[in-house]
Amino acid sequence: MNDCIFCKIINGDFNTDFIYENEKLVAFNDINPQAPTHILFVPKEHIESLNELNNTILIKEIYDAIKTVAKEKEISDYRVVLNTGKNAGQEVMHIHFHMLSGRKLNWPPG
Ligand code: 5GP
Ligand code: ZN
Repeated sequence: MNDCIFCKIINGDFNTDFIYENEKLVAFNDINPQAPTHILFVPKEHIESLNELNNTILIKEIYDAIKTVAKEKEISDYRVVLNTGKNAGQEVMHIHFHMLSGRKLNWPPG
């Protein structure tokens, strides 16, 4: 999608370093990290949010990628966040999963 920042990143427009990439998705550092490790896992296909996601196999592929990166980085404790809709904190309307780690994470989230 032309005006989507994550589509542009996936397209290589900003020469973003990908921590992980496969046929279906990319992972890169969040520009405004909320924890020492804050990585975004983003499907290459432009899907606005979980509400528009029909291919649930993609969810498995994303979690597999998260586990792979966690293992590579020797991270055992982390939180995965999927904000869906504005009131839940979704700002970029291209589905993405946050992986947060490296500090004590509070519960419940704000
Ligand atoms: P959301 O609030 O939609 O769940 O998360 C969007 C995330 O994308 C935010 O944590 C924000 O910091 C991150 N973000 C927004 N624009 C960019 C960008 O251009 N590059 C990177 N690396 N992260 C971005
Ligand atoms: Zn997009």
